[in-house]
Amino acid sequence: MSNPNDLNWFDKQGPRAGFRDAKASDKGLRFQCSLCGNCCSGSEGYVGFTQDEAKAIADRLGITLEYFMEHYSHDTKAGRSFIEKDTEFGKDCVFLDRETVPGKAVCGIYELRPMQCKTWPFWPHVVSTEHAWRKAAVGCPGIDRGSKVIKPEEIRIQRARTPM
Ligand code: SF4
Repeated sequence: MSNPNDLNWFDKQGPRAGFRDAKASDKGLRFQCSLCGNCCSGSEGYVGFTQDEAKAIADRLGITLEYFMEHYSHDTKAGRSFIEKDTEFGKDCVFLDRETVPGKAVCGIYELRPMQCKTWPFWPHVVSTEHAWRKAAVGCPGIDRGSKVIKPEEIRIQRARTPM
């Protein structure tokens, strides 16, 4: 395993200058979610969760953990995952809400979303190279966009927290 203090491509200034809102002076990465819902829809996906996360969501929904496990999650090759619903956009995460904010897709359990969702797009393979980052940007319009620059230290923390 690499040393978490090793310098990465996102420690350098300017490699993405001119790409979307990224600037030559950036150290770190820009990200601002546009609430497009792409990352929570499309082809069949996987949203893993811990027992504690499932319990907190079940409590919020006013159901038991057992009911949650049976009706809101299912087995996948990668492990137990939230179920999905078929929509015109593809397979939406069961908690994706396209109704509340017109034209936007919001997470219906945002504060309780699993760590996997919280750490997007700073997943290890996504931030491994600039090429991988840009590849992820094809599906995620929030990447390299917006006024907020996420500092390298914070990227390392998010990367380390990603549960897969
Ligand atoms: S794909 Fe990116 S911009 Fe769209 S909802 Fe997901 S994180 Fe936000």
